[in-house]
Amino acid sequence: MLNIILFGAPGCGKGTQAKRLAEHYDLYHISTGEVIRSEIARGTELGRSMEGYISRGELAPDSIVVEMVRDYMRTHADKGCIFDGFPRTTRQAEIFDTLLADINQKVDVMIYMDVPEDELVRRILLRGKDSGRADDASEEVIRNRIEVYRQQTAIVAEHYTKQQKYAEINGLGSMDEVFARLAQLIDAKRS
Ligand code: ADP
Repeated sequence: MLNIILFGAPGCGKGTQAKRLAEHYDLYHISTGEVIRSEIARGTELGRSMEGYISRGELAPDSIVVEMVRDYMRTHADKGCIFDGFPRTTRQAEIFDTLLADINQKVDVMIYMDVPEDELVRRILLRGKDSGRADDASEEVIRNRIEVYRQQTAIVAEHYTKQQKYAEINGLGSMDEVFARLAQLIDAKRS
């Protein structure tokens, strides 16, 4: 059982690599951003309550996001999971650790994908052209998401560094190159 957090700024490639890793290692993949977007698309009450945060590039409230993950784990605890875009605050990480401990699980590794800011913005604007994501279309919202990442999310690395679970890779290069770096790290963890 491997639980992996893919970590990094918006646009670093977490989502793309999380999908590939989940397939390769037969793990579940949860993207809290995708869960939120699907709630919004379905017009649920939860979705409506989160629309404002997403469109401004702010974080959704910790309590709501943590409950989404708790709910997911109720039906996805039989094998390991890749967490993509979660936890995004120290508070989320603390509650997450308890949530996993309650079901006799733990985070095995947090992997930070390092990509410089100009490349992040370039990738997101490119993605925005066909992803249809409103928060990908405006450079102002993108810059705000990166700022929010710096101010509230980057520090989560310290939480897992203290637990000696933190690792990092270079997120520049082709998708295959980045995948190979991630796989090398994960294979070392498994052996
Ligand atoms: P990206 O990493 O490119 O910003 P995501 O799909 O991970 O894309 O997230 C999109 C948006 O969803 C975020 O800007 C934020 O508003 C919200 N969101 C996703 N995950 C979380 C989380 N763990 N906590 C709070 N808000 C979140």
